Amino acid sequence: MRVIVTGGAGFIGSALVRHLVLEKGYDVLTIDKLTYAGNLASLTTVEGKTNHRFLKADICDRQAMNGAFSSFRPDRVMHLAAESHVDRSITGAEDFIQTNVMGTFTLLEAARAHYGTLDEASRQRFRFLHVSTDEVYGSLGDEGLFTEQTPYDPSSPYSASKAASDHLAKAWARTYGLPVVVSNCSNNYGPYHFPEKLIPLTILNALEGKSLPVYGKGENVRDWLYVEDHARALDLIIERGRIGETYNVGGRNERKNIDVVRRICALLDHRRPEAAPREGLIRFVTDRPGHDARYAIDATKLETELGWKARETFETGIERTVDWYLDNQWWWSPLRQSYAGERLGMLPTAT
Ligand code: NAD
Repeated sequence: MRVIVTGGAGFIGSALVRHLVLEKGYDVLTIDKLTYAGNLASLTTVEGKTNHRFLKADICDRQAMNGAFSSFRPDRVMHLAAESHVDRSITGAEDFIQTNVMGTFTLLEAARAHYGTLDEASRQRFRFLHVSTDEVYGSLGDEGLFTEQTPYDPSSPYSASKAASDHLAKAWARTYGLPVVVSNCSNNYGPYHFPEKLIPLTILNALEGKSLPVYGKGENVRDWLYVEDHARALDLIIERGRIGETYNVGGRNERKNIDVVRRICALLDHRRPEAAPREGLIRFVTDRPGHDARYAIDATKLETELGWKARETFETGIERTVDWYLDNQWWWSPLRQSYAGERLGMLPTAT
């Protein structure tokens, strides 16, 4: 099996590449522009493997994408390359429109051209998985879950750009017959997560005795999924998912942000008691504009149709994550030096 993974030097992409290369033994071509969020250090465990290659390229570069398809001749494309940080999309949306919308368009066109050259047997095998987010559905109240039928209602420039790319992917299936499958996943966490996101930022700031910024009152609810469970879900969806369908992916692990931060403090207090208690480092900051109140996924379709089940609960996953950051300073220390560790878009402490 020959698989192109875009965004494979990022957080979820690198987990997927490790899964496909090391566990499945597939031939993988990772394509990544290596933006601030892309990091070859996240691919150390596949370095030198004969079934992995890396191409530094921008998915908006039509020539580079056509070249990658015609030389590698993939059976599958798993498209994860994106600008992914909501706060950055609020302070500057242009890169999000460029990569998430135009880049997805360029990749779909390259895939379509490649698909046109395939014989019937290869066409039967070919799949394009567009990887997206539950943020396209907007915000939930206290009740209910996002299903595959929930209407799109994105709030941020990030989620709007992802919504646009989802529509493009589905249109390429309906209009051109490209065998596309779409997945929409809840918030991921785990190893190799860039330290601008809530969980790694909290772990590292708490370790270093810095303040722990929490938006608003920390009441926003997210449905957390351990990244390796997401990687297995993506592999299953491209393997067995039905063409033209959407699959929601989520761990049924709803947590308020403030409870996530408190749990991390408690775990670190236990692992490194010399600086305990760390809860006193929590600082509530002015809420993000357009901040969605609650996301929660109904993953019934994925569970019943494809037999997927998350292996990690939030409790086991967060312990593994905290331990990974404690054991892998080599990975995050250079990032902390080049990145101040403040959450972008956060206004000065409000309360
Ligand atoms: P990430 O920011 O960690 O990684 C994105 C990767 O894409 C980086 O390696 C970056 O260098 C690369 N990239 C960016 N622009 C590119 C371009 N123009 N050309 C080629 N490569 C480019 O993101 P992530 O958290 O790993 O998310 C991966 C995908 O999963 C995204 O599409 C995101 O929307 C989706 N998603 C993320 C989450 C989450 O919680 N992180 C949840 C659901 C869905």
